[in-house]
Amino acid sequence: MLVYHLPGTFETREDHLDLLWEAGATGLEERAGLIRAYFDEETELPEAIRDGEWRQEADQDWLAEFKANLRPVQAGRVTIVPPWLRAEIPATQVGLVIEPGMAFGTGHHATTRMAVEALSDLNLDGQTILDVGTGSGVLAIAGALLGAEYALGVDIDPITIPIAEENARDNAVPEGRTAFMVGTLGDDLPGDVVADGVFDVLVANLYAELHDLLVGAYVGHLRPGGPLILTGILTGKLPLVQGALDREGFTDVQVRTDGEWALVTARA
Ligand code: SAM
Repeated sequence: MLVYHLPGTFETREDHLDLLWEAGATGLEERAGLIRAYFDEETELPEAIRDGEWRQEADQDWLAEFKANLRPVQAGRVTIVPPWLRAEIPATQVGLVIEPGMAFGTGHHATTRMAVEALSDLNLDGQTILDVGTGSGVLAIAGALLGAEYALGVDIDPITIPIAEENARDNAVPEGRTAFMVGTLGDDLPGDVVADGVFDVLVANLYAELHDLLVGAYVGHLRPGGPLILTGILTGKLPLVQGALDREGFTDVQVRTDGEWALVTARA
């Protein structure tokens, strides 16, 4: 088995993960400060990721190993697990089952965990939620499981929609409590539940530059006083997001961080 050992973690080398996939990696794994990229054959790599080392290793079932290493993630009142760890959800917690797959959002990334935590800090009973960049649907589904009447997840990547729908079914979210659609803010949102496109809560795990661009649209989709939860923000980019929120008149701006990642909450 051919493995390329790249120093760093998924977080510190986030920008380089696509380069590994594009170069033909068949799988990526993070272990002990190294990214392990599996390849069928040695290949010319782009400059930015040439600081690693090719290694021939004894064959192993890396997928089985990846799965075996996954642990439940606690995020406030919610515990996120893959399907085979359902039994490990504490009775006092809201269980959220996410099958690790093609869409971002297993709960193991700091941004997802902080966003679920921020949702779990709110009283969501009977509320409507807009989840921009839904990925696996994890945030919309968490919202529904925490009592929201309706959570709409939108994502520009069509691959995410059936995955999010399947995750909602796996969590036995009642029909009509979540909906997922390809798109972004500015597109027509389905008006059957939230006719005016104005939601009680808006959550978005994207990135700082996109929040800066979309913050005006967030105002238009959030009821006055409604909570805004933004993450996917590197701590170094916090001033960009805080400046954008100031510009649009958001109040009660608060920041929490986990390593190099930040989450910002504010009120419309
Ligand atoms: N919400 C999940 C979570 O918190 O784990 C997934 C977040 S993932 C970091 C970001 C998602 O946003 C991706 O699925 C991506 O396709 C989507 N995305 C990127 N730009 C977008 C945009 N302009 N509008 C809607 N979705 C977008």
